[in-house]
Amino acid sequence: MIVKETHRAEILDGRAAAAEIKSEVAVEVTVLKSEYGVTPRLAAVLVGDDAASAVYVRNKIRACEEVGIASDQLLLTATTTTDELLSVVVALNQNDEVDGILVQLPLPKQIDDSVIIEAIDPAKDVDAFHPTNAGLLAMGRPRFVPCTPAGIIELLNRNKIEIAAANACVVGRSQIVGRPIASLLLQRNATVTICHSQTRHLPHVTRQADILIAAIGRPAFIRGDFIKPGATVIDVGVNKVTDIDRARNYFAHEAERRIQAIEKRGYTLVGDVHPADADRIAGKRTPVPGGVGLLTVAMLMKNTLQAAKWRRGL
Ligand code: NDP
Repeated sequence: MIVKETHRAEILDGRAAAAEIKSEVAVEVTVLKSEYGVTPRLAAVLVGDDAASAVYVRNKIRACEEVGIASDQLLLTATTTTDELLSVVVALNQNDEVDGILVQLPLPKQIDDSVIIEAIDPAKDVDAFHPTNAGLLAMGRPRFVPCTPAGIIELLNRNKIEIAAANACVVGRSQIVGRPIASLLLQRNATVTICHSQTRHLPHVTRQADILIAAIGRPAFIRGDFIKPGATVIDVGVNKVTDIDRARNYFAHEAERRIQAIEKRGYTLVGDVHPADADRIAGKRTPVPGGVGLLTVAMLMKNTLQAAKWRRGL
């Protein structure tokens, strides 16, 4: 494909897809209530006072209200021990009213997060980080699927992006994004390459991808020469930019708006993909904000609804 100077990648709108998913969930929640008298319930546990985590939990509780899912927010102090958090999780496992348990990560450093994740009842594991759910997904028999990867698949589906037989490349191999999205793409018959910090000739590898997924945690790391012309680029990263010159370099046509945001609240967000480069080279790309992050919350609602149905054999 020849890329024209005037080319600008089509934006894959996470906001619209998330709104669609939430309204579908809301319809199902209404049916569940009227036909079975069941209101799905999510318990969200927030430990400590990390500002970003508090915002994430607030957004999740707000989404529950939007779709008619009941929610409880459990706030624990920053000095909570592994044993104390464990007893909270055990009580939620035993509480029959609770369908989904979410423990917001990251946890304070004195808490052993694998102990906590493994204690969550896999049937209530709406974040899908429990080894049982991770294992089922890796085996190609997914039950609960982690929300961010599930949201990416929804976005690809809803935008009619062909996955089967596509060359897909995932940069990042975390348990919460990289590995599960690679499993899902494989299950959908993509030819999947997983890259990480030890990958050699990374731009050469990523340039083969029809679908490129960046889940790295480094601002604007994926430059134009990493992207196959016309590719679909999914940007999972969320990074703060505080420097005005950087913002000007990253955002090109929307630089002024982003610089105003920095001047107003001290930062603007950029993903792991250089947005101006992706605009020039990619066929389609997700924005940050307004892309994958919104789908993550929508898929949590879907997983909680699913948990409420499955626990009752519906
Ligand atoms: P992790 O830090 O757990 O994993 C990062 C991955 O990137 C690792 O596998 C690492 O490789 C790889 N990596 C790091 N540097 C390089 C490099 N130079 N070249 C190639 N690969 C590299 O991050 P997460 O997966 O948890 O998150 C990734 C990003 O996505 C973050 O910005 C995070 O904030 C965001 N995020 C967004 C969500 C959303 O809803 N929008 C949800 C979850 C995360 P290695 O394994 O070798 O160290």
